[in-house]
This record gives sequence, C-alpha cells and structure tokens, in this order.
Amino acid sequence: MFRRSIFICLLTAITILSGCFLIAHKKENPVTRDFFAMDTYAKITLYGTEAEPAAESAKAEMLRLERLLSAYDTESETVLLQKKRAAAVSEDLAVLLARSISLHKETGGAFDITLSPVSKLWGFPHGPYHVPDKAEIKNALAATGMGAIRWDSASRQCTLDNPRLALDFGGIAKGYAAEKMAAVLKEKQIRHGLLNLGGNIKAIGTKPDRSPWRIAIQHPDHKNGHLGVLSVTDTSVVTSGDYERYFEKDNLRYHHILDPKTGAPARSGIRSATIVCEDCTTADGLSTALFVMGPEEAAAFWKRHKEEFQFILFTQDQTLYVTEGLLPLFASELSITPVKETLIK
Ligand code: ADP
Ligand code: MG
Repeated sequence: MFRRSIFICLLTAITILSGCFLIAHKKENPVTRDFFAMDTYAKITLYGTEAEPAAESAKAEMLRLERLLSAYDTESETVLLQKKRAAAVSEDLAVLLARSISLHKETGGAFDITLSPVSKLWGFPHGPYHVPDKAEIKNALAATGMGAIRWDSASRQCTLDNPRLALDFGGIAKGYAAEKMAAVLKEKQIRHGLLNLGGNIKAIGTKPDRSPWRIAIQHPDHKNGHLGVLSVTDTSVVTSGDYERYFEKDNLRYHHILDPKTGAPARSGIRSATIVCEDCTTADGLSTALFVMGPEEAAAFWKRHKEEFQFILFTQDQTLYVTEGLLPLFASELSITPVKETLIK
C-alpha cells in the first residue's frame, strides 16, 4: 500500500513537472502586421499580452507620419509648407528639420533633403526614367541647396528662401517613424519586438527567449543571399543600397541615392551601407550619407563619431568592411576587412 502511494506521488510529480516544462518551452506566437506605407513594405512583429493593441497603435503611428511627411499628398504638412514658403511647423516636422540640418552639416553636405527636383529629373521614385544631360542637371541643382532653409528652433518657424525648393525626407523618414513607433510600443509595455520598415530595422529588447535578434544583411547581388547576420538587442540597423530602386541603361545602373555635388546617383564605390546605432533616425540619415561619401570618407567620419555608431560597407570591388564594434556581433561566410580606429589616417 505504502509503495503504491509513493508510486502515485512520483507519477503525479512527473506529470506536473513535464507540464511545467512544456509550458516553459511552448513557443509564443508573435502578433504581426504587414502593410504598405511610406512607399515601402512594413512589418511589425510583437510579443506579449498587449501585443495586439500595441501593433495597431504602432501601425497607426506610421500612417500618421506618412500623412504628415508625404511629398505627394497635397494635404501633407510638408507640401503645405512648400506652398506657403513659411510656417510654424509641427513637433514631428521640427525634429526632422533640425536633425536633417545637423546631419547636412556633420556629413559635409552628403545628406541633403532638398534634392527632389534632381530625383524627379532622373525619374525617381516611380519613373519614367531618364538620363539627363549636363544642362538639365545644372538647372535642377539650382532649385536645391539646404542654405535656402531658414530654421528657428525656438519658434519652430521654417522659411524656404528659394521659391523652387522642395523638401524630401525620404532619406530619414522611415528611421524617424521606427523611432516613434518604438516609443508607442514602450508606452504599451512591449519588451520584445521587431520593426522592419523597408530595411530600416528597430529591434526592441531581445527575442522572447532572451536571445538576440538575428538580422540578415542583404547581399546587393543576390536577392535571397546575405552578406552576413548581425545579432543585436535594443538597436537600430539600417541599410541603404543601390539594389532596391534603380534603372539600367546602356549597362549602367542608375539608383536613387544622389550625390548633392554632382546631381547624379552617387558613384562612391559603395554598393550597400549598413549603420548600427541606438537611434533609428540617426541610422537612417547616416546610411544614406555614408553611401554618398564612399569607403574612405566614411571610415574617417566613423573615426570622429565612433561612440555614436558602427557600420558595415560592401563595395564595388566586393570588399566587406566591418567596424571593430560589430566584429563580435557579425557572422559572415565572406572574408571581412575589419575597420579599426588605429588603421585610419
Ligand atoms: P531607402 O529609402 O531605400 O531606404 P535611403 O534611406 O538611403 O533609402 O533613402 C533614399 C531616399 O532619400 C531617396 O529615395 C531620396 O528620396 C532621398 N535621397 C536621395 N539622395 C539623398 C541624399 N544625398 N541625402 C538625403 N536624402 C537623399
Ligand atoms: Mg536613409
């Protein structure tokens, strides 16, 4: 009798323990949202009991910012500012204007939000595409220049001094949207999530099993191949490349990231530039700017700002540059050229 009850107790304990084990290892299904906004595919992946309403709020935040910043929506704040030439702007536009002006200065002019007359001339973003001649480029460049933006941060007053000036936040808006969406998610107590806004990635916390998020960096020449995989937690990872939006003519590729100095697609030798740092707005702006700079200038820029970000660059000659801070986080089957502070002039 005594032996029988021990056996029953043991059986019960084993059943309870294996139940607990199963619960602990049951994979939580994420809440996801896939949608099109800001001219790109967006994917929200969230975990936690509040994930469902949080995903709705984050999506609504991106759509709100799209309405505010769109260069095509005739009612967007950006377009209305262009029409009026002077206005006190919203808090969001104020942050983007101030950040764009400081990035323009820091990057020696590589980042420039006034290039849309030049983009349009080439046919970006939606065609018809056209390779312009020198006179056409000169004429379009005359309608650009960040010197024509007068900005007073105290009153949030913006004045556009050139009547042909148009504002294009395409190089920074998705990063800003990701940052604002992450703030919404933080308010909703989301601790594990991933935002992917057309290659602008914001990792929130870790994966639910506490392991880091694994982000594959696309190979510019292979649609389904990657340059390597980054393991990150609470970080932004943003890539700008020549393989998403481009057209080809006479065996030459013309892509959408423009060099403000030439008024043509940047031919800096870089095929893709990935920036890793906490703030997604910075990561987005810098990915565009470093693409324009080229590898040497980008490395020199990183040396001056190495506390703020890390990078991965893939160049025309197939070199994969990785800054030293990312070396322990980046796994690749390709040969890596480490970028170390001591090696840069
Ligand atoms: P994507 O939008 O494909 O993620 P980027 O973040 O690099 O890529 O942004 C490219 C967009 O930024 C272009 O489509 C254009 O709207 C704008 N742009 C192009 N050249 C520049 C530049 N030199 N500085 C700032 N914005 C730019
Ligand atoms: Mg960018």
